[in-house]
Amino acid sequence: ESIIEIRNVKKHFHGPSNLTVKSVDGISLNIRRGETLGLVGESGSGKSTLGRTIVGLLKATEGQILFNGQDIGQAKPREKRELNRHLQMIFQDPHASLNPRLRIGDIIAEGLDAYKLARGAARKDIIADLLLRVGLHPDHAHRFPHEFSGGQRQRIGIARALAVKPRFIVADEPISALDVSIQAQIVNLLKDLQREEELTYLFIAHDLAMVKHISDRIGVMYLGKMMELSGRDDLFANPLHPYTQALLSAIPAAHPRLKGQRERIRLQGNPPSPIHPPAGCPFHQRCFAAMDVCANRMPAGREVETGHWVACHLYE
Ligand code: SF4
Ligand code: MG
Repeated sequence: ESIIEIRNVKKHFHGPSNLTVKSVDGISLNIRRGETLGLVGESGSGKSTLGRTIVGLLKATEGQILFNGQDIGQAKPREKRELNRHLQMIFQDPHASLNPRLRIGDIIAEGLDAYKLARGAARKDIIADLLLRVGLHPDHAHRFPHEFSGGQRQRIGIARALAVKPRFIVADEPISALDVSIQAQIVNLLKDLQREEELTYLFIAHDLAMVKHISDRIGVMYLGKMMELSGRDDLFANPLHPYTQALLSAIPAAHPRLKGQRERIRLQGNPPSPIHPPAGCPFHQRCFAAMDVCANRMPAGREVETGHWVACHLYE
């Protein structure tokens, strides 16, 4: 059962001199209630833009986003506000996303205040409870963001997202800026909260190692398009898309069993600009398996095995 349905969503930005950046270019995806969907890709692949579009921080250029079967884009303003309350975001840089002039309690209560969910003593109790739940002391409500470490600030960002009792959270690189020793703590906190609150996550990261331990399924994006989508274990054991294979081979010692490809696959160059995406498969200029057809036609994508979807001419 899907909590979020994304149907052919595009997010194009219009820059100077009529340039169009196709940041998200036709993504369709169902996110199942209670799961964590990991979303990976290099910077510029459109994953953050997709996340922001789902939670309503950006407006889709085209396509539909449904929450519990309801088309958010078609909702009346008051309904849309209520729908958006259920869709919250945790940001990559907890330093930049916490207002340095506000006390922690007021930061956590931003959503409570905006939605007028609690005031006075009730508001104070909710803040204290949220601080405890993310592993901080209730007295911290009176302090300021600069008094906290990166990991603690991310806990505050998580408490802020939880305050309005969302059903779905986009976590946009929530651990990328943290020390390795802190990353696992934050992942474990997110897992615990998911169980307690029956949350669904879209967990964004730039590499597969970061999403491995939290994801039930994983999607791989490249230049605004989905390249592969599959169950986590299946993706690691049997990566089908050449881009996924390259991302996996970059994880040290992760893949003794990677089929036919024990060496690290080194990608040539950087991803092309989303202003002038190449024709055909967007990955073809960097792909070690590219064929003639790849430069001309975008593969349609196909479910090769149950639950394992890939967009590549090798499997059409
Ligand atoms: Fe490589 Fe062609 Fe598959 Fe694209 S479609 S990933 S270029 S083989
Ligand atoms: Mg990003």
